[in-house]
Amino acid sequence: MTSEEIFLEKKNFFIEMKNSLINYNSQIYSILNDNKNVMKEENNFFLNSLQKKINNNKYLISLIDDFLKDNCQHEIIEDYIEGGVEKDMIKIKYCKNCEITF
Ligand SMILES: [Zn+2]
Repeated sequence: MTSEEIFLEKKNFFIEMKNSLINYNSQIYSILNDNKNVMKEENNFFLNSLQKKINNNKYLISLIDDFLKDNCQHEIIEDYIEGGVEKDMIKIKYCKNCEITF
C-alpha cells in the first residue's frame, strides 16, 4: 500500500474518533454545568477528574487534527453555514477529505 492508501484507510477511523471525543466532551461539559451548584466539596475530586478528562480529550483531538493536516491531500471546499437567528450566513472553508476547517 502507498502511504496515501494507508492514510485513507486510517482517516475515517480518526475522524470518527475525533467526533466521538467532541461529543463525549460536550456531554461531560453539560454534566459539569448541571452539577456545579449541587456538587459539594467532597465531589471535587470527581469534578476535577472530569475536567482532566475534557483536557485530555482536547489534547487528543489536537493530535488527530495535526495528523490529518500533515497527511491529507486536502481538497478545500467553500460552504455557507447558518450564523444564528437573524444573522448572516457564515462562509467556511473545509477539506472534503479530512473535514478540517481552514
Ligand atoms: Zn484534508
